[in-house]
Amino acid sequence: MAVLSWKHHTVIQALMARGPLLEDEFRKIYADVTGKNHSANQKDFNDFTLKINKELSFVQMELRCCRNQNDGRVCYGLVNNIADEQSKLGTKYSIPQIALFKGIVEAIVQDEAAHGCISTITALNIRLENQVQLAAGSQSQDSPPEIPAAIRNFSMSQKDRTIDELIRDKWLSQTTDGDVALGFRSYLDLRSLFHNMGIPPCEVCNESGVNAKVCPTEGCNVRIHEYCLRKKLQRKKDKIVCSSCGINWPFAAPKSEPVEEEEDEQPTQTQMQTQTQTQQPSSSGSKRKRYRFSVDVEPDSASVRRSTRFSTRRR
Ligand SMILES: [Zn+2]
Ligand SMILES: [Zn+2]
Repeated sequence: MAVLSWKHHTVIQALMARGPLLEDEFRKIYADVTGKNHSANQKDFNDFTLKINKELSFVQMELRCCRNQNDGRVCYGLVNNIADEQSKLGTKYSIPQIALFKGIVEAIVQDEAAHGCISTITALNIRLENQVQLAAGSQSQDSPPEIPAAIRNFSMSQKDRTIDELIRDKWLSQTTDGDVALGFRSYLDLRSLFHNMGIPPCEVCNESGVNAKVCPTEGCNVRIHEYCLRKKLQRKKDKIVCSSCGINWPFAAPKSEPVEEEEDEQPTQTQMQTQTQTQQPSSSGSKRKRYRFSVDVEPDSASVRRSTRFSTRRR
């Protein structure tokens, strides 16, 4: 098998230590390590990442490139292809925290309007009991799962803190309106989950349309990411005709954000064996709308036992 050089190892280590990175940061590391500018020689960059992926495939891992669907920005990260979605969070988060995360993800991706976000109040009101089978792993088929006390007793304020933590870790993010959206780590890591849940793909890039424009025709399932739509509009100039129902899409391209034109130079998904989506506005965590609940006050200290590894993987 091909052997990776120290340069490949350095890039892998940087991603392991720092977690998923936005494109600029990742390209900078690449340039620092290799002395090459990716835009000057895209083929070298593609070969470099391809070589890493060949080796990582032996351990069921992948260097993946995807777009953050919230803002269209490209990000890179190492993804464990073997883990189910729960075990991706399992070493750091407790069972109720994972249940909350799964509930939020489901609520966001199952939104037929594909807004890509839910209100904080909806997120806080997600019933963890509904997630218990997923969160607690395989249960006996015959008896209904027993709801662990940690789930039953998980308070609003614990949920609130968990959402903050998930935002810090880039599993979630917050929109400028203070709603809860997926973070770019979710777009990188949960690709197969979105696919398995049958989320309609974007007409242009074929990635799941979690945060996308939906064809206004009732019953028409066509979705297009806003950034894909902008590119399409730039090329077609005037309008977009729905490939399924034939109507003209009434969306005008926003003028403020210039469309990235580097897309053709990006490693293709096959080249990187990756997917393409995008991440989120930077989530320094302060804008999320706060809702005060007169009923539910203090965190009940009792319930959640966090994994001992909780803090060790923190960045
Ligand atoms: Zn798209
Ligand atoms: Zn349509």
